[in-house]
Amino acid sequence: MSETKQHQQSLVSQKFIASAKIGKILANRCLNCGFTMLETIYFCEKCFSSTFQHVEFDGVGKVVTFTIQAVTPEGFEDVGSYAWVVFKMDNASFRVSGFLPGIVTPADLPIGSRVRVSDYDPKHGLLLKKI
Ligand SMILES: [Zn+2]
Repeated sequence: MSETKQHQQSLVSQKFIASAKIGKILANRCLNCGFTMLETIYFCEKCFSSTFQHVEFDGVGKVVTFTIQAVTPEGFEDVGSYAWVVFKMDNASFRVSGFLPGIVTPADLPIGSRVRVSDYDPKHGLLLKKI
């Protein structure tokens, strides 16, 4: 795992994790301009306001791109093969990435497949499943 990724994960809040465990994505909406951002941040990317409210979205969307990983991460040895998936949320403007077990070849996951958040793993981040 890269240092950058570890740094990003350390910013993930307990609230975000609690939401992911019930299949939701917790985002931050700027109270000044309404721009919605996924990451826990301190200033709005658009207007630099620092006041936000939490907004919960259904963690459902369509696969935009993915990478099949040859090396199974620690803790997922039983899964065998998995994909690191980027999907576009149905009800939000941003994309979310997560771990989808059981993907062996690209034919297992056509672009546009629907996935949803199923859990959060403390080491690997969001877990997804096909729907
Ligand atoms: Zn803003």
